[in-house]
Amino acid sequence: MSAPRDSQTRVNLKTITCLFCEQLAVAWHHLTGRATPSSLYLDRSLVVPLCRRHHDREHELLRRSNLEFLPAGADALGHRVARILELIGRCADNGRALTLEPRTPYGDAIAGFYALLLEAARVLQSSQEGAA
Ligand SMILES: [Zn+2]
Ligand SMILES: [Zn+2]
Repeated sequence: MSAPRDSQTRVNLKTITCLFCEQLAVAWHHLTGRATPSSLYLDRSLVVPLCRRHHDREHELLRRSNLEFLPAGADALGHRVARILELIGRCADNGRALTLEPRTPYGDAIAGFYALLLEAARVLQSSQEGAA
């Protein structure tokens, strides 16, 4: 089986540079990925532009951290947050801030991030209510 790639997403990238470097981006990388190779993206609009080298490297590092897909029985929210934190760390390694674009072929990446934060806040709130 071939490795999953954002093969259908190499659009609208002719003038956008990679999140990590000055190269032109060739793919929209999904920050939180998919649960399995054949499933839908967990957060469809949460994407960043990456050049070929950094996109390949990102997936290699995700595989090494066992974060490429959602491990069986793992908490999906925690998994998504872990992937985002890894990417933020790599932004820092490259002296970059994590910036999200409002207009991508997948929708508004900022809104996608906000939706994930709201979901996390709801989980936190319900766990606090349960503890009270
Ligand atoms: Zn790059
Ligand atoms: Zn990717």
